[in-house]
Amino acid sequence: MDSCIFCQIVAGKAPSWKVMENDHAYAFLDINPVSEYHTLVIPKAHHRDVFDTPSEVLQQVIDLVKQVTTLYEEKLDLRHLQLINSNGREAQQDVFHIHFHIVPRKFGDGQNIRWQTY
Ligand code: 5GP
Ligand code: ZN
Repeated sequence: MDSCIFCQIVAGKAPSWKVMENDHAYAFLDINPVSEYHTLVIPKAHHRDVFDTPSEVLQQVIDLVKQVTTLYEEKLDLRHLQLINSNGREAQQDVFHIHFHIVPRKFGDGQNIRWQTY
């Protein structure tokens, strides 16, 4: 979809810091990170939200989420992180190409995190 920034990233028409990819999913660093290594994982095909995404595509995206978290655990010793997926404006979805956030967390970082504080 031409007007979608995440489709432009997948197509290489907009820049991104790639982390990993598989046949159907792409992982890259968030442009406005709430914590170090804040990462987005998306399907390469345009799907708006969880309602619009077939199970097989969700599976490919989650497979890549798993690979990225394994990489971060092994290489960066990152073991405390949240997986966040927002669907619909009232649930704080801003980009309407489904994505999973991988958000590394530390004690006391809540003021920087828009979804949850503690
Ligand atoms: P949402 O609020 O929809 O769950 O999250 C959208 C995320 O996409 C935000 O964290 C935002 O910083 C990120 N984002 C928006 N535009 C771009 C972009 O052009 N490049 C990258 N890398 N991230 C983006
Ligand atoms: Zn898209």
